[in-house]
This record gives sequence, C-alpha cells and structure tokens, in this order.
Amino acid sequence: MWLMVDQDACLGCASCEAVAPEIFSMNADGKAEALNEVTEDQKATAQEAIDICPVSCISWDEE
Ligand code: SF4
Repeated sequence: MWLMVDQDACLGCASCEAVAPEIFSMNADGKAEALNEVTEDQKATAQEAIDICPVSCISWDEE
C-alpha cells in the first residue's frame, strides 16, 4: 500500500522521514513525499510516522 501526504497541510518538520526514511523523503518544496510502496514489514513503522505527524496529514491511499 502507498501513503499519501497532504502537501498543503505538511509543515515540513521531517519527523516522518526521521521515523521512516525508507518510506519518506523531503521534496524540493520542503514537504514530505512517499518514496516507495509500504511493504508488509514496514507497516508498523509507517503507522508510527502517521501517528507522529503533528498535523495528521499522512494517510493511507485506499485506491
Ligand atoms: S511529519 Fe507530517 S508535517 Fe512533518 S514532514 Fe512529515 S508529513 Fe509533513
């Protein structure tokens, strides 16, 4: 599954990247972006990143 970051809401604090660098990277606009699809093994880490985001702008892409 993929994670989505709401680019308008993201503060660019990089907390998600610190928790899950294999999933998130900061882009040229200073916002977080999901780099890779989340593997089964990474789901707990992905959830940690979702939970740590101060503005709750990370969500699962249900499509
Ligand atoms: S933790 Fe949330 S606000 Fe901070 S960079 Fe990641 S997506 Fe953006």
